[in-house]
Order: sequence, then structure tokens, then C-alpha cells
Amino acid sequence: MASPTTDDNQIPARRVAVVGAGVSGLAAAYKLKVHGMNVTVFETDGRAGGKLRSISQDGLIWDEGANTMTESEADVSSLLDNLGLRDQQQFIPSNPIALIRSSFLSPQSKFQILWEPFLWKKNSSETQESVGGFFQRHFGKEVVEYLIDPVVAGTSGSDPESLSMRHAFPELWDLERRYGSVISGAIQSMLSSKGGKKSPPGNRKRRRGSFSFFGGMQTLTNALCKEFGQHELNLQSKVLEMSYSCSDNSAIGNWSIFCAPVQNKQLNQQPFDAVIMTAPLGNVKEMKITKRGSPFLLNFIPEVSYMPVSVIISTFKKENVKRPLEGFGVLVPAKEQENGLKTLGTLFSSMMFPDRCHKDLYLYTTFVGGSRNKELAKASREELKEIVTCDLRQLLGAEGEPHMLTHYYWSKAFPLYGRDYDSVVEAIEKMEKELPGYFYAGNHKGGISVGKAISSGCKAAESVISYLDSHSKVEGGGG
Ligand code: FAD
Repeated sequence: MASPTTDDNQIPARRVAVVGAGVSGLAAAYKLKVHGMNVTVFETDGRAGGKLRSISQDGLIWDEGANTMTESEADVSSLLDNLGLRDQQQFIPSNPIALIRSSFLSPQSKFQILWEPFLWKKNSSETQESVGGFFQRHFGKEVVEYLIDPVVAGTSGSDPESLSMRHAFPELWDLERRYGSVISGAIQSMLSSKGGKKSPPGNRKRRRGSFSFFGGMQTLTNALCKEFGQHELNLQSKVLEMSYSCSDNSAIGNWSIFCAPVQNKQLNQQPFDAVIMTAPLGNVKEMKITKRGSPFLLNFIPEVSYMPVSVIISTFKKENVKRPLEGFGVLVPAKEQENGLKTLGTLFSSMMFPDRCHKDLYLYTTFVGGSRNKELAKASREELKEIVTCDLRQLLGAEGEPHMLTHYYWSKAFPLYGRDYDSVVEAIEKMEKELPGYFYAGNHKGGISVGKAISSGCKAAESVISYLDSHSKVEGGGG
């Protein structure tokens, strides 16, 4: 890692607390550390990584949280470069043309996709439009039922009618505003960004497509953790209380953090100059915050709906799978529940990453639950085994019992970016406005993907840097 730098040697390094050691908190802390700040990360769990969780066992490697990510955000590219992770990336080949060639959409829907740039006429003035409504206007009902519904279920545990287009897919929503057609907008904005931007010297060209890392997604958060010393990353440290005490214009040492007591662990804490909060909003609501001695009530934070999901990992002997499909997975449209399928979808993990299991086996990652089947997400392992075995038999001709099966239950896998998400965004803004030196980041702000969470952490770190810089000037200037 580059050694910490300080712009002004006169000013002692600033101290920043980061709550949460998911990918957003770790990315934020890393950026601050590179900038020469003292960081302390607090994490409830006994491990770092949050929703990035990879397991390596008995010659198998699997992910129980996020499986892949993309490099659409510039912050992701810089992070991968700085951490030296380029040679650890494992890309999945992707081919959008395959969609048009495939047989699962009717000729009419394919026609509608191909002609969208020419047929498209009007923008919707509706800011609360659902994802389903948006895609139906552009591509028709069948695309929503057989493409958007399973993708949305597989990537956010939700359904097209509950999700807000503006909050869940802000880039596409914006493309429609600017260009009318989503497809021609995407092409034009891609061409203009290619023409306008040159990669800085030394920076590799960003590769498109989804990827993971050798060893799974947690390779990324493990690499971030290596950048912190023992006292910088505090596991099993659940933040319960925070207090802001400042009476003048100074930004120094205003914040104190109080954690749940942990046996045999004494946190020798100094006050902090700023805080980056990355815990899910539901957890923030449970915290006690005081501002200049008075309680700062968090009752303005609305209830966020969370989608529960169980991730089931199974292996089958290749000889027992009679119809192994080509490609990297199946997503199950809600309509297919009528035919008895209960899973949201299955990733063919060993097709995506052949090094992750023995060559005689197929490794599958199946998702159950989401808004479609909330109750089913928390079913027992035996029940989930029955569901997965049944669906894989129907879809792939997988016969007999799985060779291995395990599962992980996320009670709050994804925050729902619903049509009333404006109230969540407003609550985050209110906290940031009324609590000086307090910044919020993570998958409740700006998108739920890994890339967006990283970007949100990096942006919060930038805000902290400029907040503290501006106060250094005031304090320096005032003597
Ligand atoms: P989190 O990872 O939730 O981290 C927040 C951290 O805060 C946690 O570690 C938590 O323990 C800690 N915390 C909470 N309260 C406190 C407290 N009081 N004190 C201290 N610490 C606290 N995204 C993709 O891009 N691609 C995918 O393929 C993909 N698949 C997914 C599959 C599943 C099953 C899930 C659950 C998510 C998936 N995602 C995927 C989404 C993505 O993984 C997450 O949105 C992202 O990792 C969230 O990172 P984060 O840092 O914002 O939050």
C-alpha cells in the first residue's frame, strides 16, 4: 500500500471511526488510511466482509453472499489496482447477443427489443414508476415476466412491481430521461464516454463483465483487511452508542463511540473527529445517539423492508445430471411457480469457475426466498434440500441426492429500494446534515451491488476528507 501522506505536517493525523466492516466500510477506511488518517473500524461480527462470505472446504470453494461483481464504478478500478488484485480476478464470459439468439423469448418480444430504439416515443413523467412498469413500456410484458422478474429476484430478492425504477436502476432511468430509448441511450453514452475519457497513465483499461476472485469474493475484503493493523480493525465490537459533543466550530475529537463489552477485550478509545456509518439502517435505528448532551432521536428513520434469502450450496455427481444446461445459471420467473418450481434461481458455480470443485462434480448455488417466498427463506436445511433437489431435477435432470449440501440464511439479505425509498434517502440526508462529521455509506445509499457499496464508501471517505480539511483551515486560520 502507498504510505500515508498528510497535506500539512503541522496538523496531527485525524481520527475517523468507521462502523461496519462490510465492503463499503473497509473501502472507506482504506481510502482514509491512504490519505494519512488514523482509522478505527468497528464490526459486530467475529469476521470482516459483511455480505461477502466465501468458504473453502473439502476441495470446494463457494460464496454464501455475493457471487460476482462488476467494474462499472471508477472507485472499484482504483481499489483493485491499489490492492494489487488484478491477477486474482476471475472473469465470466458474457454475451448479450445470446439473449436475442436464445429461444426463451417469443419472436414478438425479440422484435420489440431490437426495435426499441426506433419505436420508442415518450418518457414517463411518473417518478414513482415501478421497475415492472418501466420495462413493460419499453420491451413488453413477456420481457418483464421472463427476463426482468427473474433477474430482479436473483439480484435483489425482490419483484419488478415492488421496486422503484428511479432508485433501483438510476442509470437506466436517467438514460430514458436523456435519450428516450434505453438501448440507443446506452450505446450513445458508452460511445461518448469512450471518446471523452482516456485512462490515466499506468491504469489498465477496465474490463467489462462480471467477475469474482480466486478463492471467492471474500478475497477482496481479505485483501482490504490486510491493510489494517490489529488496533485499527476491531471485530466483535458492536457499536451501541455514539455521542457528539462540541460547542464551538472545532472539528477535533467531537465523537465518542461506545461498544458492547467483549470479554477479555479492552478498547482503548480516543475521541474521533468524524464517523462513517455503514451499518444497515435497521441497525442504526437501534443505536443511541446523543448530541451536545441531549438525545438525538432517530425516530425519523422509516422502517426499511428487507428481503430474506437462503443460499443453498450443493454438488451433484456429473454422471447424475442428465441435462446439464450450457451457460452459467438459470433464473426462475415467478410465473414458473405455477409449474411447481420454488427456487429463485441457481448459479452453475463450477461452470463459471471450474477450479472451485472436483472435475467429476457440478457445484450449484441456489437462492430461495425473496419477496416471492419470504417464509420459505427460513425453512430448515432438510426442507431446503427437498426444494432444491426437486427444482434441479426438473430443470437439469439432476437425479438422486446431492453429494453435498449446505446453506446460509440471510434474514436481511437486501434492503428493498421500494417506491417510497425517497423517505429513506431523506432520513440519511437529515442525519448527515444535523450531525456534524457524520457520514453514511453502504448498500442503503446509491445501490445494492458490491461495486455501488464500494463507491458509496469511497465517496463518504472523500466527504470526510473535505470536511476535515475545511475545518483545519478554519482552525489554522483562526489560530
Ligand atoms: P454489509 O456487507 O451488510 O456490511 C455492514 C456491516 O456492518 C456488517 O458486517 C455488519 O455486521 C456491521 N454492523 C451492523 N451493525 C453494526 C454495529 N452496531 N456495530 C458495528 N458493526 C455493525 N451484489 C453484487 O454486486 N453481486 C452479487 O452477486 C450479489 N449477490 C448477493 C447475494 C446475497 C445472498 C446477498 C446477501 C447480497 C448480494 N449482493 C450482491 C449485494 C452485496 O453483497 C451487498 O449489497 C454489499 O456487499 C453490501 O456491503 P455493505 O458494506 O454496504 O454492507
